[in-house]
Amino acid sequence: MQRLKDKIALVTGAGQGIGKAIALRFAQEGADVIVNDVSLETARKAADEIEKTGRRSLAVRADVSISGEVGGMKQAVEKKFGPVLDILVNNAGIAKILPFTDTTEEIWDKIIGVNLKGTFLCCRAFTPWMIERRYGKIINMSSKSGKSANAWFAAYCASKFAVIGLTQSLALDLAPYKINVNAVCPGIVFTPHWDELQKQYAVKRGMPAEKVREYLAGKIPLGRAQTPEDVASVALFLASDRSSYMTGQAVNVTGGQEMR
Ligand code: NAD
Repeated sequence: MQRLKDKIALVTGAGQGIGKAIALRFAQEGADVIVNDVSLETARKAADEIEKTGRRSLAVRADVSISGEVGGMKQAVEKKFGPVLDILVNNAGIAKILPFTDTTEEIWDKIIGVNLKGTFLCCRAFTPWMIERRYGKIINMSSKSGKSANAWFAAYCASKFAVIGLTQSLALDLAPYKINVNAVCPGIVFTPHWDELQKQYAVKRGMPAEKVREYLAGKIPLGRAQTPEDVASVALFLASDRSSYMTGQAVNVTGGQEMR
């Protein structure tokens, strides 16, 4: 049985990595999926893959940190699907590993802008439709770094801790309307996100870049890094009615590395 039959879902930052895995998984489970990304090219490729599963899709280029672009995305969704969104996954995110003293105002604003403000703007844009229909599932991508901090990661940790605060507050606001708001906290997933992070982490630890992945995976109790599909499985559970009594939670997908 398909768990998201005929639902309409939007996944931000779904051109690659975790977001793409979530978008494809949702489509396999019967949802029509809008693929957002700042890169129209990758969004289109992911949307094409979704259409091959037999579900409808729409690629929308928008920077989630810019209010006007999120507004344009909402219009594009309404034009194709009507004023309906069952599932919103705020997945778009960026990171940089660097010493706190090198964290410029520009870097701070960019990371907080995409990871936190982007989540706020998309929630603000689409919750009125969910409230109207007394139905909705919002899934915000936080991180293990939203539960416990790492050095050289101040802006990212601040953004991901804040995403959990936003998730909890919004869960309370929207509970009367039967809208579930939860967060997912992955630990280490070697997506394209890590191509640059790996070099930055090597500088931080003074180790060769090619040793970073093995070193990090070696610290995970379950013995391997998470895959995008591991994260997509938990997102699917939170998007489905099997988790209808859960709201305001931040679920770890870290192979046992984070237990708070
Ligand atoms: P990724 O870099 O592989 O993919 C992120 C996607 O988001 C890219 O396609 C990118 O173009 C898009 N994006 C970036 N800025 C955007 C913006 N302003 N508007 C719209 N789209 C934008 O990253 P990923 O590893 O798949 O990470 C996805 C999410 O998971 C992020 O929120 C990240 O912080 C979080 N996360 C990742 C890991 C990990 O180890 N990979 C761990 C914990 C949490």
